[in-house]
Formats: sequence, structure tokens, C-alpha cells
Amino acid sequence: MMAHGHMIPLVDMARQFARHGSKVTIILTPGNATLFSKTIERDRELGLQTNIRLIVFPSAEVGLPEGCENLSSTTSQEMSLKIHKAGELLQQPFEQLLEEDRPDCLVADVFIPWATDVATKVGIPRLAFHGTNAFSLCVHHVLHNQEPHKNIESNTESFIVPNLPDTIKLTKLQLLDPTRSGTESHFAKMVGKLMKAERTSYGIVINSFHELEPAYSEYYRKVVGRRAWHIGPVSLCNRDDEDKACRGNQTSIDEHECLTWLASKKPNSVLYVCFGSLSNFSTAQLREIAMGLEASGQQFIWVVRKEKTKEEWLPEGFEKQLEGRGLIIWGWAPQVLILDHEAIGGFMTHCGWNSVLEGLTAGVPLITWPLFAEQFSNEKLVSDILKVGVAVGAQEWCQWPDDTKIYVKRDDIEKAAAQLMVGEEAEEMRSRAHAQGDMAKKAVAKGGSSYSDLSALIEEMKLNCH
Ligand code: UDP
Repeated sequence: MMAHGHMIPLVDMARQFARHGSKVTIILTPGNATLFSKTIERDRELGLQTNIRLIVFPSAEVGLPEGCENLSSTTSQEMSLKIHKAGELLQQPFEQLLEEDRPDCLVADVFIPWATDVATKVGIPRLAFHGTNAFSLCVHHVLHNQEPHKNIESNTESFIVPNLPDTIKLTKLQLLDPTRSGTESHFAKMVGKLMKAERTSYGIVINSFHELEPAYSEYYRKVVGRRAWHIGPVSLCNRDDEDKACRGNQTSIDEHECLTWLASKKPNSVLYVCFGSLSNFSTAQLREIAMGLEASGQQFIWVVRKEKTKEEWLPEGFEKQLEGRGLIIWGWAPQVLILDHEAIGGFMTHCGWNSVLEGLTAGVPLITWPLFAEQFSNEKLVSDILKVGVAVGAQEWCQWPDDTKIYVKRDDIEKAAAQLMVGEEAEEMRSRAHAQGDMAKKAVAKGGSSYSDLSALIEEMKLNCH
């Protein structure tokens, strides 16, 4: 899928395959390829057999401006639907490329609806990639099959997602509701296609590790009944600062400037605030975040997407007044580089799965502020099961907010920041997050669970093609 939250882990995953000795071809459109070409070039210099091949993005056919090839370059819901439409149109050139290249296996995002058909035609297995963890896939499985929310009248009353290894409660407001998003048929069709992709594929590859969610890794295999390989965290294939800094986009801050700023801070004293590559906040909400961070008294790095000009919402003199205490990055941050710095003591996140996993891999506890997609169930994993986070109190699934509405109040932001950064409870969460980070690193090291799962998968693919 042409979104950073899917392309970044898929490219990292491809690089992991290459490190395990596979010859890998990554298929991208030209605009998206520029985001990864430097990284792949560096891998090739190290002797890895990784290659990028291009297929043209159908800008004219879907009515998008030249160069707008992924979801984070869209500015409206209508434009983002066109990105999905473009993905649907790429089957023919993709098929041609596969015929020429003759690979032994295809790993494709679940959002690419035709991938299994193409793989079948070429006679190779297709593995599906969701971008999320086993826990959220299990929650979705139960919601879809048992509809525990069906007879709940109120949108705010919580209900239990039944028959899972833990007691998980959600409200209707926290679920993806196609009727609320106003694109009922499109979303309904897309989710249907996505589930079909999962059902018809050879199995799925998950960017997570077994020790993080053992009960759900089991549940997915036994109850959902499909094959899955946990092979993450794939972000750990970025070993040096340069790899971490140029991962998936041009950063809006010089990495050395960023590291110098962090080096002047004490360990665990900075809160990193970033809401991924697609978040849209109302003008009122952006101002509220600024006020909450200011009131918290904490040091912070805050990444703000450039969807609005700062004059529209940033309190006058804010940056000057907080100079030294707060750093705002306007645009794209080198997230993994920042999270790995010892000065970072907490991460306020929208619970996009990559962000959650990158935070935990770095041993950093989280303030959870889910916005949309499966982020509300990811929040449950973080706060209720792993107990490595504080919920800021987001109540409502919303991708395109009402511009005057405040969804989370400044007092709640201030409270969550203090709760995560200081005191005994904060230390306990931090030490649990550290333990997860240690397990993550062991999982991808030789002999670890993810290392072994990936090796076993590659061996199985080799057997298949003989
Ligand atoms: N990311 C980044 N810098 C930014 C924003 C995002 O490096 O300023 C990366 C982040 O490290 C993660 C991905 O973009 O790998 C976002 O994926 P996630 O699943 O967290 O959220 P999404 O963007 O899909 O909502």
C-alpha cells in the first residue's frame, strides 16, 4: 500500500530477507522509490542482493497531480481514495514485471487486492502483509465473526470482545464505522477485499515478535486458523545512524542538530511526540496540544505535519518561549534515531503499529492517543496487556476531524505527560518497556524467535520451488 506506515516496514522486511541470503526485488512507483533508493544503494554496497524495480503511477487515470503517489501527500479524503484506486490499476504492469523477473515468492500488502491472483497465475505463493500485530488481527477476527457490539445501543458504553485470552473492552465509537466516515460502500468493499487477501494467501508475515504477544500469536494460528510468521521488529535492520536517519523520507531537521539537542539532555528526560505519517488534527486540537505540553513542564520533541500553517494555531511566541525545553520538528522526523537516544523517556503516539513497536524496541514507554485504523485496539495491547503506557483518553475513531473540535483536552495531555515521565509508576512502566526492548533485540538476533521464523519461512519457500 502506498503509505509510509506500510512501505517503510515492507522495505525493511525486504532488507531482512536479503540479510538472510535471499535475492530481493522491491516493486515501487517512481515517487515512492525516491524515498528508499539511498537506503537500498547502501545495502547493495554491503553486498546484499536487493534491487528496486519501478512501475509507473497512473496519475492521469485517477486524477491526481504528478508526484502525489502516497497517502501522506494527499490533503483530502477524496484524494486518498484515488491513491487506493491507483493501486487497483497496477495489476497489468505488475503482472508483466513478475513474468519477466520470475521470483519464487511474492510478499504483498493486503491492500493490494489482486496480488494473490497474479501470484497464482505465475505459479508462486503469495504471503500477505497487514502492517499490524497478531493481537489486533485477533480482535478484528472476533469483532467480524461475533459482532459483540451489535446489540449495544450506546456508542460510549464499553463491551467485551469475547473469547480472547484477555478481557478486552472497546466502545462502538472506537471502531471503524463506515457509516460515520461517509464512504460506506468503498470502505466495506475494501475491508472485504482485505480479508479475502488474508484468506487466500499462503500465510501472513507479521512485523512483531512472538514474546511480545505469545497468547495472540498462538490464537491467530489455532483459532483464526491461518499460518503466520512473526519476523520483526523489522526496524532493527537499521543499524547505524545514517540508516536510521534516512528511513523512508527526507527528514525536516538535520540529524546532527537533532542529536546535539538530545545530547544536552539528561537520560529519560524528553517526551517524544509524533502521530505518524497520516494524522490530521483540527486547528483547535493543535493549539490544545501546544498548551498541554507547555503546562506539563516536560521537555519535548514534537513532530508536526505541515497540514496547516503555524500562524493559524500556534500561540504567539511559543517556540521562542520554550526554546531549549521544547523542539518542534515541522514535517518529517528521524523517528527511530530519536527514539533510540537515551534522552528519550517517553513517546506520545497515535498507536500506529510501527510507532508502537519502534517505541518498545527502543525501550520507551508510551502515552497512547489512538486516532483511526486499528489504533484503538493497539492501545489495549499497550496499556491493558503489556502495561507499558498511559492512555490520554481519546474516545473516538476519527481520521478527518471537525476543525473546531477539541478531542482531547490540554489538562489530560498535561496529566498523561506527568504520569509517564515522573514518579514510581513511570519507572515501573519504563522498566517493563526496557524488558520488551531487550526481548525485541534478542528476537531478531541469530537464534532468536523472529530470526528462526524468517529462516524457517525461507527454507519452506525453497522447498516449494523445487
Ligand atoms: N515516521 C518517521 N518520521 C515521522 C513520522 C513517521 O520516521 O515524522 C515513520 C515511523 O517511524 C513509522 C512510520 O513512519 O515507521 C509510521 O507508521 P505508523 O504505523 O506508526 O503510523 P501511520 O503513519 O501508518 O499512521
